[in-house]
This record gives sequence, structure tokens and C-alpha cells, in this order.
Amino acid sequence: MKTTKNKEYTKQELEDFLKKYSIIWRQQLNIEYEYRSKNVSTAFKGIGAFGELFAALYNSGFVGSGSGGLGFDLINEEQQKEIEVKTSSTFQSNKCDNCEFKFSKIFTTCSNCESDNFHDISDSRFSINAKSLLDAYDKKIISALVLFHIFDKPKSINLTTGEITFIVNCYNVPFNYDNSKKEVKRLQYFRNQKEQSKKSNCCNLLPCSYDFYLLSPEFFDSWEISFNFINLDTPIKITNQFNQVNKQIEVNISICSSKEEKDLFKKLSNRKNTLPLEVFAKNFEYRKKRFNKDRGKIKSVLG
Ligand SMILES: [Zn+2]
Repeated sequence: MKTTKNKEYTKQELEDFLKKYSIIWRQQLNIEYEYRSKNVSTAFKGIGAFGELFAALYNSGFVGSGSGGLGFDLINEEQQKEIEVKTSSTFQSNKCDNCEFKFSKIFTTCSNCESDNFHDISDSRFSINAKSLLDAYDKKIISALVLFHIFDKPKSINLTTGEITFIVNCYNVPFNYDNSKKEVKRLQYFRNQKEQSKKSNCCNLLPCSYDFYLLSPEFFDSWEISFNFINLDTPIKITNQFNQVNKQIEVNISICSSKEEKDLFKKLSNRKNTLPLEVFAKNFEYRKKRFNKDRGKIKSVLG
């Protein structure tokens, strides 16, 4: 297929693209399954490149910068704009409660001791360089931060048959240079992070977390991908799940941690467990870094 960089991609073409990638992901999972005893995680390796290309398909005129790690992921030379893209898969490992071994999430018993007592670890984050983002903002060249979150649909793994369903949620954090409250708050996150980690300048943003929602991300698309990682001859099924109703993000109270936060949430939501994103982002603030937290830990280790 020959395309130009200014092509607008249809939903069907985006679906075709996802199908190509799903073949890779299915294969990776199949390898994890076949070589279980070697316990090497292969699923969703290399999703950074997937995210960059997927974001380029959504953003006509933008192409990879070819800068190999330096600068931004996508650039539009005509408009003199850049886009930063981050992809995170929270389809990660299970950790055995019996022997603490980490093993692939497709298995329902520990690959080491066969115990079925385990919990899942899903702490994959969007790693964003706060300094380079803010520098680009000062130069008025950053147009958006595009975030893709890939995760397994709850209870969708069937180890006996090999069926699994993944969801790819797509978010946009735009920068409009309009001094709006929304924009000021978005920038505040990166300024705080830059202050807090002067050496690395790194933000470790957890998908669907408290900080994530304070950035007022725009939910712009959602895909469901089902395939079979044992029988590779079965067809891959891809459906677009996005509609005007789910476009409105509802934030759940579970992201609140202190009593203060929970009380405010309950007050704003009329004692319900969800709040529209707009209301949440407007009324909540970034948490102060708790400097004493880690020191406390060290102290207890030293007895
Ligand atoms: Zn174990």
C-alpha cells in the first residue's frame, strides 16, 4: 500500500493496521505459552514503535522524526509542530504469593511451584521527559501528548482454549497555548515532576491514575482485539468500541487515597462512586510529594 504523509486514515484502515500488529502480539504470546518453562516475557515487546506509527496514522501530516531517541517522536515540518507518543501495556506479570516468582499473565498457576495463589502486577507507566516537553512548550512547538493504553479485558483469558481479548484505549493531551485553566494544570504536572526529579526529569505516569486524570486527557478512540494464542489458524477479531457515550470519561473513587480526597469526591458526586472527568480535574489538585515516606521505610529496615 502506497500512502502519502498527508493521508487521512479511515476506521477501516486503522483496523487493518491493528490487524497487522495483532499478528505480532498473538505470535509473541504464543511464544510465551510454548516456552513456558523458560519464563521469559515476550508479549508486547516493542510497543513504543507501534504507538508512534499508530499516532502518525491518526495525525495527518505527522511523520516519525527519525531522531532516534533525541527530540520528539512525530514531527510536522509544515506546521512546525511535534507530538510526543507514549504507549503502556498493563498486561504484565502475575506474582506468586507462595514463592514470589513472576510469571506470564496467561497462566493460572505459578510456572515455578504450580501454586494458584497469585496476584497481578500492573504498574507499567508512561515515561515522559518533563524537561524536553516543557522546553518544546516554551518554543511553542509541542502540539500534543498522545497516550495509548493496552490491557487485557477483565476475565477474557481462557487458558484452555487460548482465547484472549485486549483493549487499546487512545488518549490525547493537547497543548493549545491558550492559558486556559486546563492547560495551566496540565503544565503544572510536568513542572512539578521536573522539580521533583532534577536528575532524570522523568515523569512516571500510571495509566488511569489520579495524576493521569488531572491532565484532562481526551479519550478519542477505543479498540477491542480478540485472538487465540494457542491455535494460530483462528481469525483475529477487531472491533471499534468508541462512541459518544464512552467518550465521556467517568473517574472512579478508587483512585483517591486519603480520607480527604475521598470525602471531597463523595461530596462532588453526591455520594456516588464516579465523577465526570471534567468535575474531577477541576476540583482536585496534585498531591504534595511525601518526602518522609521513603525515609520511614529505611528506618524500619535498619531497625
Ligand atoms: Zn510459585
